[in-house]
Amino acid sequence: PLRPNNLEAFWMPFTANRQFKQAPRLLVGAKGMYYTDADGREILDGTAGLWCVNAGHAREKIVEAVSSQVAELDYAPAFQMGHPKAFELASRLANMMPSPLDHVFFTNSGSESVDTALKIALAYHRARGKGTKFRLLGRERGYHGVGFGGISVGGISGNRKTFGTLLTGVDHIRHTHDLARNAFSRGEPEYGAEFADDLEKVIALHDASNIAALIVEPVAGSTGVLIPPKGYLKRLREICDKHDILLIFDEVITGFGRLGTPFAVDHFDVIPDMVCTAKGITSGVIPMGAVFASKKIYDAFMDAPENTIELFHGYTYSAHPVACAAALATLDVYAEEGLLTRAAELASYWEDALHGMKGLPHVIDIRNLGLVGAIELEPIAGAPTKRAFSAFLKAFERNLMIRTTGDIIALSPPLIIEKAEIDRIFETLAGVLRDID
Ligand code: PMP
Repeated sequence: PLRPNNLEAFWMPFTANRQFKQAPRLLVGAKGMYYTDADGREILDGTAGLWCVNAGHAREKIVEAVSSQVAELDYAPAFQMGHPKAFELASRLANMMPSPLDHVFFTNSGSESVDTALKIALAYHRARGKGTKFRLLGRERGYHGVGFGGISVGGISGNRKTFGTLLTGVDHIRHTHDLARNAFSRGEPEYGAEFADDLEKVIALHDASNIAALIVEPVAGSTGVLIPPKGYLKRLREICDKHDILLIFDEVITGFGRLGTPFAVDHFDVIPDMVCTAKGITSGVIPMGAVFASKKIYDAFMDAPENTIELFHGYTYSAHPVACAAALATLDVYAEEGLLTRAAELASYWEDALHGMKGLPHVIDIRNLGLVGAIELEPIAGAPTKRAFSAFLKAFERNLMIRTTGDIIALSPPLIIEKAEIDRIFETLAGVLRDID
């Protein structure tokens, strides 16, 4: 079988990659719900790659759109010119979002979407003559990618500490998960909306006239699928409105059907000022992201007297024709197969199967919403992450791909999953949990 011949040349400086080198697991093919590994085994994809392959792997329509686009128009600059698919995609996306989030800025990843939204937030206030509003707020446990902006507003202190000073003027509000665990709750916890008032406390520290924006993941993904209590996000919206602070949703994971609605804004019925997306926009096939901005933001730039405000921002690959073609085909597949609401149809089956893990060895909490779920394991004393990593290895041995973050198993399958595959995921996991130390 195929084996890597130089494990050092391809460098990803994560602990997870050091673990990879101890036990290389090479993927060489993918179709539908399954990966094929270098030994020819079919591995059930329990995580949609990295939460991105929402339409399933190698969908014919998307493959075809990508290959014909490369042949037709392989590249076009997005500065001073464009190409038709960029406009078509922007308007289709804008139509999917509730008004007034109808202006779309293209990026190439989630991290870029976040940095883009943060820059737009600062420039927006400046365009309105409120340049003192420069401070940014994030949430503890928030993950917003690896750009300087994203790590700074991100709430994982371990990710920040290596870099010393990042962006200054950043504060983090406390995460509801640290204020009340809501253990084993199904879907959204019933209580805890009042934890949004922690935002008022942080605002009071600096005066609202200095604060530009708050960014939150509606459901924190990478830190272990943390579901907000009912009413919590609405309350954040109200507090931001009161203080003229922009609210940004990072929907890089929750976007494109993960929660059973096209976006989390639909599920939670809260409309932020900007929404960051990526991943599912092309179903993971080609890197792409998009920031949705509201009309008031767009107008602030457009109405500013000429040359008073310049947002120097844009990428060589913004609205790349191949990415646009992939995204348009992906949206077709979502629409034709009803995939953006499929998670809602499967949610109660998924929830019951997931909560069936309650009582199995090591399990201390279970959380779910739509087609996303987490099983939190009791950490081994003195060896955090070790137990979850063993679960990951054993699951892979048994032809199931899961993802772990800390001591949490995170699940987010492609939205094309069938009930029989849901059963298989949890039967395999039950065996894995019984068999690890
Ligand atoms: N925001 C969130 C909520 C994410 O989950 C991620 C990626 N896991 C990112 C931003 C960064 O996206 P990317 O890796 O595409 O830069």
